[in-house]
Amino acid sequence: MNVKKCSGYKGHWECGEDYPDHMVPVIEFGLDSKNGFQRICKKCESYRGIIRTPMRPRHPDTGKMKMDWITSKAKEYYGGMSKDRKNDAHWKECTDKAKLDSEYIHWVINDKVVDITPRFKSEYGPSKPMTKRETVHVEGEKIPQGWVYVMRNTETPWLFKVGKTYPDGIQSRLSEARTWGCFDLEEKYWFEDALKAEKEIHALLSEFNMRNLGYKNCGTELFKCWNIGTITDAINKVIRKRVA
Ligand SMILES: [Zn+2]
Repeated sequence: MNVKKCSGYKGHWECGEDYPDHMVPVIEFGLDSKNGFQRICKKCESYRGIIRTPMRPRHPDTGKMKMDWITSKAKEYYGGMSKDRKNDAHWKECTDKAKLDSEYIHWVINDKVVDITPRFKSEYGPSKPMTKRETVHVEGEKIPQGWVYVMRNTETPWLFKVGKTYPDGIQSRLSEARTWGCFDLEEKYWFEDALKAEKEIHALLSEFNMRNLGYKNCGTELFKCWNIGTITDAINKVIRKRVA
């Protein structure tokens, strides 16, 4: 049988279970415009399609797309549409305010509870190394709803922090994280029971936990993973349990 090497997509082989050595029968490949076989098999090609199509969070009640919602909210604050949105500082202020507001909405994707919020620059603040320790009080620790976030160490890309925060708490968590290195927010997911979700996610990831790997002198929320997908998979498992 004619086989051809499938080059996978970004280090992932959707065909990997059927063909662990990545040698895939040519009939599993589509043809490209030059009449040759494509570099990746049909299975991997459709995986690529799914990954590359951004899922757009929508408003839970109106179904309005998040970015549209933010623009109309900004219009409300501005009192109309700015004539020069690119250079209008006041318009920018109104948009930032609308983005902040959007944090309080449980955006849904395909009617599922979660929000995969696009990163907003304002969440990061200036990226500077922090050596100073600071005490952080996270507001609203008592409310169960909140974000479970995934942060990646900027100098050590395999070092992740997975933890929970509560409405308006992300900024505090980022400042806190900087007391032991510089972390960037990669992903965050909304949970109605963030504390419980965090525990379940940590349990699924226990083999990657830095403490379990022998690093005694660090927080319990640190994980050593070569691929953020390992963490995302664990989070998705916990999400699926809730929507099932
Ligand atoms: Zn493939």
